[in-house]
Amino acid sequence: MMGAQHALITGATSGIGLAIARRLASQGMNITIGGLGADDEIADICKSLIRAGAPKTIHDPADMRDPVAVRHMIDVAADRFGGIAILVNNAGIQHVAPVTAFPPDKWDDVLAINLSAVFHASAAAAVHMVAAGWGRIINISSVHGLVASPDKAAYVAAKHGVIGLTKTMALEHARGAITVNAICPGWVKTPLVEQQIIKRAKASGKSFDEEANRLVADKMPSWTFTDADDVAAAVQFLCGPASASITGTSLIMDGGWTAQ
Ligand code: NAD
Repeated sequence: MMGAQHALITGATSGIGLAIARRLASQGMNITIGGLGADDEIADICKSLIRAGAPKTIHDPADMRDPVAVRHMIDVAADRFGGIAILVNNAGIQHVAPVTAFPPDKWDDVLAINLSAVFHASAAAAVHMVAAGWGRIINISSVHGLVASPDKAAYVAAKHGVIGLTKTMALEHARGAITVNAICPGWVKTPLVEQQIIKRAKASGKSFDEEANRLVADKMPSWTFTDADDVAAAVQFLCGPASASITGTSLIMDGGWTAQ
């Protein structure tokens, strides 16, 4: 179901979420984007989505740490566009530290944004999807929803949780035309990962590019970053007619990371 429908993408002011918003806009969908950013940058993003093909685009500034704001964002957007056909739970943050030194407030933030917001948004959106008799929920988990890396306890816990939530909701909606799936990308060169590369480059004294190559070669047998546009194309596929029987799965896009 595409065209003149409504898709809401959280964390769509940057990186993977923005690529997904552009892709769904290009299919003629009305778009609600969530995410943080300067007013003028967000206004430019909304204009770019209209140019890409969205009839209407709105931005909701809800803080994904606030359950009430997350649920309100869904209901307001659904009211505005007469429903919500596609929800992409994409907003996410990272914090890198060993468990013994992991700041509790960072743990709370990562869990709130990367996991609890997925629960609140999905719960609110599913009500509208059930009423409409159709819906797609796509959760951007991570390769870290399947395997761990040191110093990423909160992120790994949250992303594993997203996969469990995805399976549970898929079962709860298996008899209707609502599917719930996750996507698990490997490294994608976005601000979230660039911050980690900059940190590693500072520690090693190497250049950004050298450290980026090392980061990828370390984990991904492909030695190539996953492309944000490819993740967006996967979202489009999961929203298309050929994916009607795909539910409760995790689509892994990791250049062989988890095959090792
Ligand atoms: P990004 O930093 O480019 O974008 C994150 C988005 O989340 C931004 O729009 C930001 O404004 C939004 N956000 C952050 N905190 C928020 C808050 N409190 N309230 C509302 N919005 C908030 O990151 P990205 O790499 O594009 O990541 C997108 C998703 O993909 C995340 O869930 C991330 O975990 C996942 N992911 C990323 C990679 C990668 O290598 N980049 C790999 C696997 C999974």
